[in-house]
Amino acid sequence: MYKTEALKERKENGKREYGGLDRFRMAAAFLVVAIHTSPLVSFTETGDFFLTRILARIAVPFFFMVSGFFVLKGENTGRAVRKFMKKTALLYGISILLYIPLNIYNHYFQMEDFFKNLIKDIFFDGTFYHLWYLPAAIEGIAVAYFLLRRFGKKGALLFSISLYLIGLFGDSYYGVIKGVPVLAGIYERLFSLSDYTRNGIFFAPVFFVLGSVWAGKLSEENSRQAISLIVPAGAMAECFLAMAAEGMLLHRFSMQRHDSMYVLLIPAMYFLFWFLTDFRRKGSFMLRKISMLIYIIHPYMIVITRMGAKVLHMEKWFIENSLLHYLAVSIESFLCALLLLELWKRWDNRNDRRKRKFGKGVQRHRAEMEGSQSMSGRQQTGVGRTTEHVWRETDRAWVEVNLSNLGHNARALKAIMPEQCELMAVVKANAYGHGACLTAECLQKEGIRQFAVASLEEGIALRKHGITGEILILGYTDIRKSRQLKKYRLVQTVIDYEYAKELNACRLHLPVHIKIDTGMHRLGIDSRHAEQISGIFQLSFLKVTGIYTHLCVADSLDKEDIEYTENQIKRFYELLDVLKVKEHPGIKVHLQSSYGLLNYPSLSCDLARMGIALYGVKSALGDVTRQKPDLLPVLSLKARVGMIREIEAGESVSYGRAFRAERNSRIAILPIGYADGFPRNLSCGKGSVLIHGKKLPIVGRICMDQLAVDITGEEGIRPGDAAVLIGRDGALEISAEELAYQADTITNELLSRLGPRLKRVPVFSDL
Ligand SMILES: *Cc1c(COP(=O)(O)O)cnc(C)c1O
Repeated sequence: MYKTEALKERKENGKREYGGLDRFRMAAAFLVVAIHTSPLVSFTETGDFFLTRILARIAVPFFFMVSGFFVLKGENTGRAVRKFMKKTALLYGISILLYIPLNIYNHYFQMEDFFKNLIKDIFFDGTFYHLWYLPAAIEGIAVAYFLLRRFGKKGALLFSISLYLIGLFGDSYYGVIKGVPVLAGIYERLFSLSDYTRNGIFFAPVFFVLGSVWAGKLSEENSRQAISLIVPAGAMAECFLAMAAEGMLLHRFSMQRHDSMYVLLIPAMYFLFWFLTDFRRKGSFMLRKISMLIYIIHPYMIVITRMGAKVLHMEKWFIENSLLHYLAVSIESFLCALLLLELWKRWDNRNDRRKRKFGKGVQRHRAEMEGSQSMSGRQQTGVGRTTEHVWRETDRAWVEVNLSNLGHNARALKAIMPEQCELMAVVKANAYGHGACLTAECLQKEGIRQFAVASLEEGIALRKHGITGEILILGYTDIRKSRQLKKYRLVQTVIDYEYAKELNACRLHLPVHIKIDTGMHRLGIDSRHAEQISGIFQLSFLKVTGIYTHLCVADSLDKEDIEYTENQIKRFYELLDVLKVKEHPGIKVHLQSSYGLLNYPSLSCDLARMGIALYGVKSALGDVTRQKPDLLPVLSLKARVGMIREIEAGESVSYGRAFRAERNSRIAILPIGYADGFPRNLSCGKGSVLIHGKKLPIVGRICMDQLAVDITGEEGIRPGDAAVLIGRDGALEISAEELAYQADTITNELLSRLGPRLKRVPVFSDL
């Protein structure tokens, strides 16, 4: 768990690290200790007020904002929010138990109206004075999440600030309403539910929303470089000074009922966050955990320090001198946090070891070892996965997706496109078997902003995964589902004129691309029907943002085929002229798919729809193209040897007894079959696999879930060893093209049929 979390968090933020935030967590934790120990009080009351009742008030909002920043970012945060709430609730539960001894010591259980107060404490005020933070975090994120979903960023900000304003008058600005009986009455009611307005309803939500807003801002300006820290630092300093003045004035005129909330706290937090997220340092998992532990345990240290001082007769030093008292508590809390963390780590490691020892034997262990080798590469690129993940995903049969090669291919293809042309990644059919979310996420990090899918559901899956670029649906979508297009901001292809009219009748204001048929005769409006096509531009609820056609023999360099393609191209551009598309800069023009680009690279257009080439393979083995960019295959298909059996000469293997051994043989059974997309017509020696760098034949009929390989003479092979069905093993390679050829099909079909039982495992190579 310990390692998993560290890696996962790193993964979530891609390559960025927020060391600035992590460092400030420690500062914030010590500020919280200061609030509860008043370090300066024995020297200067005003100074202490300034430090603990004004400056230190940034600590808790900071923690809320950090959580908002990491949890409420991206499109689909529901799961992350639930996880955060669960984790915080668990921590709260443990903390409540932890503080029962001190509760007893403080006669907590003898208070009046015990049950009413207990409920109130559990939901708002905390069962110990500092614990209010945990229920406030749970409620705060729930409110923030609701507001963000319901009203969007601006609306959520507005609502949460309004809540904060209401809270303000029950806190630092209480003096303003105290004199108005009606208002004072209302607030009294509030206080009977929660001792303060500094809680999860009025106080916390705005900071969660701010964190989320800031995360959105950063992801939009992905390439933004922190030019200088001076701007946010200056603004931050100004806000803090003004907030100090605000606090001091309120204090001077005795306006405050409590002193957690200030008007200027919000802008101050905003600039503080700006400063800290631009302050680039390596993130630190340790600091994150230690700061949280300090927060939870420091009240114990206060008690221990006081007791210790009394026992040792050092009250003068460690109780009466507030600064020494503070330092003692801080140091003790820090050391105790370190100790706890160390214990946790040991416990975690022991569990790991135990799992390995009592796990399912050799094969998992080996998978784990192999997994940990490829791990180092992963960690470098930031997509962290644990060994545990890896063996779970590679314990049967799996697809390895080389994301380094995918990125390389995208760059290689861009290099042969005209300058103004953008790469549209075609990730339909689970990205040709490569895993749509995995590949799209990787490409998004590469800077790709255009994606194409075949169906509505494929588009929705990408959105839910956090893909923010444009997503074009190339195929048909039932009109009855058109609302979903709007909801998930998907661009639908208008496949014919009737379809356009029906979609328009939904009155939804949808962006569309028009598909033109120039000779493929599949989807699209005939290019000769220019009036119909220009009629679509007139439809008031459709906004045409693109127009495209598809070439049907662009892969062939036969003279006749080239003529056909050139004719398609000509028809398309003539139509564009008639429609005067050039005069509308908002309309994206596109016509090439992979072979279109490879054979006709210099066509003038805005997008090129790259499918098969992006995955680094050709459709068919012998295909020759005019352009020959250096493309690398992305996918490998692998399976574990499940078991090994010895059979005697004359005995048969698998259905139909199609294989009969001519000699005493060793047969390896691999847990992969045609239900996984491995073609059945590769049965009986037509196909082979690589094990230990050797090519070995598939024997007998391929079954739904397994197949047999003749490994006679290969003594070193053991159950749990990896077999390669597509990809490289040592010096040998079985390419997807070659396999498709043997199976009488094209690479596109072979790959796109690789089934959902196969886990997609990202791997990285050094290029
Ligand atoms: C599938 C598809 C593509 C991608 O084709 P590749 O040959 O794999 O690059 C492009 N355009 C349309 C309309 C498609 O259906």
